[in-house]
Amino acid sequence: MSKYVDSVLADVKAKNQNEPEFIQAVDEVLTTLDPVLKANKQYEQNAILERMVEPERVVIFRVPWVDDKGVVRVNRGYRVQMNSAIGPYKGGLRFDPTVNLGVLKFLAFEQVFKNSLTTLPMGGGKGGSDFNPKQSPHTPGKRCSDAEVMRFCQSFMTELFRHIGPDTDVPAGDMNVGGREIGYLFGQYKRLANEWTGVLTGKGLSFGGSLIRPEATGYGDVYFAENMLAMRGETLEGKRCVISGSGNVASFAAEKLMQLGAKVLTLSDRSGAIYAEGGITEKMLKDIMVLKNVKRGELAEFAKKTKAVKFFAGKNSWQLADKVDAAFPCARQNELNGKDAEFLLKHGCKLVGEGANMPSTPDAIAAFVKAKIMYSPGKASNAGGVATSGLEMSQNSERLSWTREEVDAKLKGIMKAIHDNAWEAAAKYGDKGNYVMGANIAGFVKVADAMVAQGVC
Ligand code: NAP
Repeated sequence: MSKYVDSVLADVKAKNQNEPEFIQAVDEVLTTLDPVLKANKQYEQNAILERMVEPERVVIFRVPWVDDKGVVRVNRGYRVQMNSAIGPYKGGLRFDPTVNLGVLKFLAFEQVFKNSLTTLPMGGGKGGSDFNPKQSPHTPGKRCSDAEVMRFCQSFMTELFRHIGPDTDVPAGDMNVGGREIGYLFGQYKRLANEWTGVLTGKGLSFGGSLIRPEATGYGDVYFAENMLAMRGETLEGKRCVISGSGNVASFAAEKLMQLGAKVLTLSDRSGAIYAEGGITEKMLKDIMVLKNVKRGELAEFAKKTKAVKFFAGKNSWQLADKVDAAFPCARQNELNGKDAEFLLKHGCKLVGEGANMPSTPDAIAAFVKAKIMYSPGKASNAGGVATSGLEMSQNSERLSWTREEVDAKLKGIMKAIHDNAWEAAAKYGDKGNYVMGANIAGFVKVADAMVAQGVC
């Protein structure tokens, strides 16, 4: 590693000691940039790395709201505006008790590179709250009611609205922030700003949302995998796939894999994992989507009613199948560790397509890269969601809506462009087939060049 990278990393570690996820994300990117930094001294001369690891702005705010029993509750809200060199800040909102500043800084940092890779003009940001819509504050084992979620979203937006705007910062959904939450957030923004603009993406179809946006991250992850396989003259047909999660990204990755003839063996959630030796069917997946999105239930309940699946309480998806061709981590960060990676490689896994953000731990990544399998980091293979958010912004600005086929074709084209850019950057800098290095370098160069051109700011 070069002295420059070493010193920036040391500084990041010293200054952000309570933010392990942020340090991990920065480490993962910076340690792959040496070749491009050596070939382009202007990046060091302009302190590009030092500036990239410091958010342009962080807003932290109080979110008071009243629960259904009339009790006042207080959560913490955040928006990390990481980098606006190539466009307005863009990135999701996450509502989860695990949300803290370090987690959001890691997600915002990843988002900068991901958004750059999409080829669209979007900077990077991320936000959210430690609010847990899955646990009512007054009734153990029950979720928050719709009315509670609405009151929380309205209070959250009452502060956030002054920091965002269609040309400033355009948030979207992330974990536990889906169509329902985006609707409530948008409604409150509209009241406060007294204007109808595309300030959030992931909106409902009747108020400016884009077709394919809900499907885009999962579909895009699978399109990226198709592109990796095509380089070896292979397809997804007949491939045995394991997926983690059963939320937005996981369920649409599963749907697209099935459409392309692959066999989906597993899904998971906080209650555990399901395994179907014969493959999860389209009917099962439909039922699971209703269970998760409408009834807001757990896979444990689904497994009780479905003989064709086995349920593994509290387990993840990685060590359940004896023979695996491809793995798609689509739940959360650090959910696939070195032991899981070892198991997958030993049982035949030749492709890992990350749908979640930073789901593989550093030792798992090292194992995949060493084994030279087709491994795509989340910032490249899950960029389809934000890319389609970019398409939603374009449609809102032009006051028009593209058809499903048009958006899907654009998504496919963007995933191919991301794949090819990462492939070419890795080849150019001496490590052909290393998508981690390729994605980091390709994402970095565009942002770094814009920062150099814009002077010290
Ligand atoms: P989601 O709809 O909330 O789904 C998350 C899934 O992960 C759920 O199945 C959830 O289980 C599971 N999960 C969460 N925490 C867990 C834990 N501690 N143990 C076991 N399972 C856990 O979220 P999503 O939108 O699909 O996002 C998933 C990942 O993709 C995140 O890393 C997100 O940042 C990333 N991502 C999302 C998008 C997007 O467009 N949505 C775009 C790019 C990247 P429960 O159902 O039991 O909670």
